[in-house]
Amino acid sequence: MLVTCKCHGKKIEQSTAYCVRINGRNTYYCSESDYIGICRNRELKKGIADCINEIYGYEATKTSAFNMILSGFLKDASLEDVLDYLRNNKSYLKKTMSKSFGNEYGKAKYFVAVLRNNLGRDAPQEEIILQSGFEMHPTNYVEKPRRPTIDEIERQFIGEDGEI
Ligand SMILES: [Zn+2]
Repeated sequence: MLVTCKCHGKKIEQSTAYCVRINGRNTYYCSESDYIGICRNRELKKGIADCINEIYGYEATKTSAFNMILSGFLKDASLEDVLDYLRNNKSYLKKTMSKSFGNEYGKAKYFVAVLRNNLGRDAPQEEIILQSGFEMHPTNYVEKPRRPTIDEIERQFIGEDGEI
């Protein structure tokens, strides 16, 4: 009998599938690591949701902000990175998000833009430099793209929403 892996949506043979019984119903996965991965992701998403709600000061995850993040707005950053960043920058983000926004969508877009701007891009480059023993000679130094400032992000959104 074929069953469907809850992680990949793939058809797999029931006899070799990893089975978990939840509320009296069997759910199937290709392997135990599929199942652990899903649990871990759920945990991370829950952590991210809690942080966002705290930063917003209300149940923001019922609005578009959270959904946008989950639907891959931050596809270049891992959930771990997002959660770390939110946890470590709560007071900064609270302050940043406390101004008034025209609507929830504009606010969510702004929030995601701030996250995108602060996540990812810089650290990996420095890591590569360290790992390869690369020295910073003027001839082979590649200038990193400058991060836009909060003001610049705001200006970018004034054009689009006209409200912020
Ligand atoms: Zn699978």
